[in-house]
Amino acid sequence: MSLALYNTATRRKEDFRPIDPSKIRMYVCGPTVYSYAHIGNARPVIVFDLLFRVLREIYGADQVVYARNITDVDDKIIAAAAQSGETIGQVTERTGVQYDQDMAAVGALPPTLTPRATEHIDEMVRMIETLIRTGNAYAAEGHVLFSVASMPDYGALSGRNLDDMIAGARVEVAPYKQAPADFVLWKPAKDGEPGWDSPWGRGRPGWHIECSAMAETHLGETFDIHGGGVDLIFPHHENERAQSLCAHGGRPFVNIWMHNAFLDLGGEKMSKSLGNIETVHELLKRFPGEALRYAMLSAHYREPLDWNDERVREAKGALDRFYGALRAVTDIEPEYPYDVPVMAPLADDLNTPQAQAVLHELATELNKAKTLGAKAAAKGALLASGEVMGLLAEDPEAWFRWRPAGASGLDDAEVERLIAARIDARIARDFAEADRLRKTLTDAGISLEDGPNGTIWRRAEI
Ligand code: AMP
Ligand code: ZN
Repeated sequence: MSLALYNTATRRKEDFRPIDPSKIRMYVCGPTVYSYAHIGNARPVIVFDLLFRVLREIYGADQVVYARNITDVDDKIIAAAAQSGETIGQVTERTGVQYDQDMAAVGALPPTLTPRATEHIDEMVRMIETLIRTGNAYAAEGHVLFSVASMPDYGALSGRNLDDMIAGARVEVAPYKQAPADFVLWKPAKDGEPGWDSPWGRGRPGWHIECSAMAETHLGETFDIHGGGVDLIFPHHENERAQSLCAHGGRPFVNIWMHNAFLDLGGEKMSKSLGNIETVHELLKRFPGEALRYAMLSAHYREPLDWNDERVREAKGALDRFYGALRAVTDIEPEYPYDVPVMAPLADDLNTPQAQAVLHELATELNKAKTLGAKAAAKGALLASGEVMGLLAEDPEAWFRWRPAGASGLDDAEVERLIAARIDARIARDFAEADRLRKTLTDAGISLEDGPNGTIWRRAEI
């Protein structure tokens, strides 16, 4: 199956041709771990998790290496530790564990590799030494800077010229810089800050060199796909590219650069600095993680996505429909298809709105299926499609029992007890009592459905 992906570097969709089909390599810039991830941060995680799944489906699960780094040394982490009174290690450990939990809850598989910046300082120092040797970097006053003028096609990824970059990037003017657009590879550590000994004194790496060094260590000089949010194109990815190309004698760095558009709240980019954030942690108290994921995938990844509760409720409604169809065939063994129906839209630059339309068609087919064979095939097609999208892996019964954190009302055991009592009342032909029990359940937001296999129940809409 051919896979088309939009390449930021060439500004067009290209056929994906792996460097080595037995080892597809993808790097995505991961989190700086200092506080809860917001749902905007989850967009690249979900989008590139989907691509990871699509690649595994096409090339085989063991043939894809996905690296997503953890930035565990940064000004923001130092500031967060100073504020909470924890050590830097405590902040990064605590927020890293929380991050993993949140991302698992929205259905993201753990990446193959999650390299931490602080465990790759030697590799960073070595790469910086190489860049000094090749004439692409210079040391000054405990800093090492990349000399932008030393690289003729600097700016090629973002399509910016040097003047735009200086105007747009709020570049810091500093006495130790030869030119305003030069960026930091290494900087001195102040007292009390984390630091490592280096040929330029005790210091710490700049953010961009972290990714270049970790990508080189784990994926080699040249790899297939590099991803992140659109805000990373400049300066972060432009600078990663500059460092890696110059340190590797101009040999290619990345074949396809991919960037997700922003998730907005109230018409503006969701961001900590604007203060318009909703954390994944809080959202998970109000909605199932799978509904957050489905809502995220309801827009194409290169389109802005306006986040609101309505979108998540619609997502929950769609999933209710799919799980409802699956619930009706729990006793039927699925027959999995050779061609997974959602792969056609997904292989076209991850067309998730189209893939979701296909899920709806598959659910309709399953609902309409009459024979055992038709049901088994429709169930298999829906489940296999869901799996590639990271959806529909829950037990349908559990799905319908989900309720918000801290919700009052009946718990599962109480619901089961009342349903059993209602059945007893009906057997005893005490219909008044049976109706009373049904009303108690309905008033608590539980709807009942009496079917051939007994009574099934679900919690009402969120
Ligand atoms: P940050 O924590 O800002 O370094 O962001 C981590 C990742 O999340 C990067 O890939 C960003 O591009 C991405 N990101 C941050 N905010 C948003 C947003 N509102 N919408 C989409 N992606 C975002
Ligand atoms: Zn990066």
